[in-house]
Amino acid sequence: MHETIRRFDIGHFKCTAIADTDQGGARNVLLVEGEQRILIDTGAGSHDPGNPGRLLARLKDAGVAAASIDAVILTHADFDHIGGAADRNQAAFPQARHSIMSSEVSFWRQQPVRLKRSPLYDEAFRSRVNDVPPMALEVLGEILHPVDDQLSEIVGGVTMIAAPGHTPGNSVVRIQSQGHVLLFVADLFYQPENLTTRDWVSQYDYDPMLVVETRRRLLDEAAANNTLLMAYHLPFPGLGRVRPSEGAWEWIAA
Ligand SMILES: [Zn+2]
Repeated sequence: MHETIRRFDIGHFKCTAIADTDQGGARNVLLVEGEQRILIDTGAGSHDPGNPGRLLARLKDAGVAAASIDAVILTHADFDHIGGAADRNQAAFPQARHSIMSSEVSFWRQQPVRLKRSPLYDEAFRSRVNDVPPMALEVLGEILHPVDDQLSEIVGGVTMIAAPGHTPGNSVVRIQSQGHVLLFVADLFYQPENLTTRDWVSQYDYDPMLVVETRRRLLDEAAANNTLLMAYHLPFPGLGRVRPSEGAWEWIAA
């Protein structure tokens, strides 16, 4: 059995990385416990039949009731990040305020074509990508908390930072306490190899020009400060650092 839970501290915050998957295609969710219980991203829930979300079961195993989650931060609304919050089309964390950039909400409310038809993926995947987010935002309804600022402290020490490009309202989350920092970078990159060029763009990046600018800004800063990063789709738990290498960056797993 591969590792599915890893606990570590960032200053006074008790952090738990939780694997939302049992197989390939990692989805690394983060639980942050201080004065409040905060979940950062929520996995795919019931919306990925071939690789179903395990978050709810793993929280339960860890003794954390879904109803005890005080806040959810959604880095963006792609189905593999928001799907677990609207598991089986019901709010999975009904007591939690769900923070998300308001630009992300308005993007998805226009029912955009996030992915066009392509031989690279099948039609079921394409329709999940396009259809789950607006449905999930609808399900969350009144517990959705759109955030307008470029930098927004959700609770003391936990800050959403605008990181547009992958989606229009994409964000990263900084957890900071007692001189320690973790930056949850979600889909800023998928594989260590993506870091070997400063111009890399994924087929899933909505605005390639903007994503390159955002990625350079965040990764240069993280390399300069030796910041601990957590990446959503890297092999569990996705923790590591970047350092400058051959004109771009190199991933050092932690
Ligand atoms: Zn993703």
